[in-house]
Amino acid sequence: MKGPQCDGGIGVFSAALNSFGTNKTCPYCNKKLRMRISWRALLLLLPVGVLLHFFVLKPVVMITGFSGSGLAAIVGTFIALGSFRLYSNESE
Ligand SMILES: [Zn+2]
Repeated sequence: MKGPQCDGGIGVFSAALNSFGTNKTCPYCNKKLRMRISWRALLLLLPVGVLLHFFVLKPVVMITGFSGSGLAAIVGTFIALGSFRLYSNESE
């Protein structure tokens, strides 16, 4: 994930973003960050995720003998995670 104020790459699972509390700071420029879902990204990822689920993931899982139930939840989680974007949370 790219920071909104600088080009520093911040991992989704990095300590900076997973610290408790709403005050997250960029580890590169120390500016305040806010993480929220981007509806535009969600609208883009959703059809891709659904297609991937029904035509790639589900058939593969069925072949391996698993029922495929619960797979939709995993795909949905990844879509939601992939839709998060970083926004500036500076007051000015
Ligand atoms: Zn930064």
